[in-house]
Amino acid sequence: MSLRVVFLGTSGSVPTLKRSLPSVVVQCSREQLMFDCGENVQQQMMQAKVSFHRKMIVLITHLHGDHVLGLPGLLQTMALMDRKEPVQIYGPAGLKDFLICTKETLNFGLTFPVEIFEILSEGVVCDEEEYRIITTKTNHAVESFAFAFVEKPRPGKFYPKKALARGVVAGELWSKLQHGEEIKLPNDTVVRPSDVMGPTRSGRKIVYTGDTKPFESFASFAHGADLIIHDCTFDDALTEKAAVDGHSTPSQAALQAKAARAKQLVLSHISARYPNANLLLDQARKVFPNSILAEDFMELELPLSE
Ligand SMILES: [Zn+2]
Ligand SMILES: [Zn+2]
Repeated sequence: MSLRVVFLGTSGSVPTLKRSLPSVVVQCSREQLMFDCGENVQQQMMQAKVSFHRKMIVLITHLHGDHVLGLPGLLQTMALMDRKEPVQIYGPAGLKDFLICTKETLNFGLTFPVEIFEILSEGVVCDEEEYRIITTKTNHAVESFAFAFVEKPRPGKFYPKKALARGVVAGELWSKLQHGEEIKLPNDTVVRPSDVMGPTRSGRKIVYTGDTKPFESFASFAHGADLIIHDCTFDDALTEKAAVDGHSTPSQAALQAKAARAKQLVLSHISARYPNANLLLDQARKVFPNSILAEDFMELELPLSE
């Protein structure tokens, strides 16, 4: 499946003229996942051409306004667009009350079902056909969760020449082998998937931290990630302030990515005090060279691993 990561909002706490509040969308082949939902997310979605009608799962890291205040507006806009597909929303305890209270107070109707799941423990929060979402608690000022999108392993590469050499003609039998089934030819020869296919290929992994200061178990949670999107609110000179507020600096985010043996790090949740955030990028790259700075409307395509 194709995997495209779209950054809709990359600021922390308050929006700026260039950065909207936190929200990242991962578009898979048939559906999309939204990590956090800052205010004004609808305009960001329109500009980035993110669908309002596709199957959608929203994952909220924590109940600080900058991460969750976009939800009521987004749901209302979707209803006015006559959305029919359900929306599933996962987040910390309190999320359900917040949404029900807003919906009742503002008295808006919905044209589609909204299913709210409060996260009660770490581990798998949803298990779909092609991927799982796994969560762990982070180290922030309030209860907060990081999420890992983990694609399920894909079958190995199919070699048509090997199949033909064993007398398996193209068609239904190829499809059976590709789906892991053993087949029997008219001459009683058995052909196994491993005879005509390469080894299983590992899936891709994307980790979204939400707000957090560094924590011990992160390296194993994010191990081998293709992409880590990490809190990077303050620069290294403000390490003490970052610790008090429950945020990370570039060096800290980079050390986390290094410890997790990640392939790429994206610094996000940038404080409004940095109109130019290149300083943050420089500090991160000293520790983890494959770091980039998130910008609103930046898009990353994650290629399939071979
Ligand atoms: Zn925040
Ligand atoms: Zn926060």
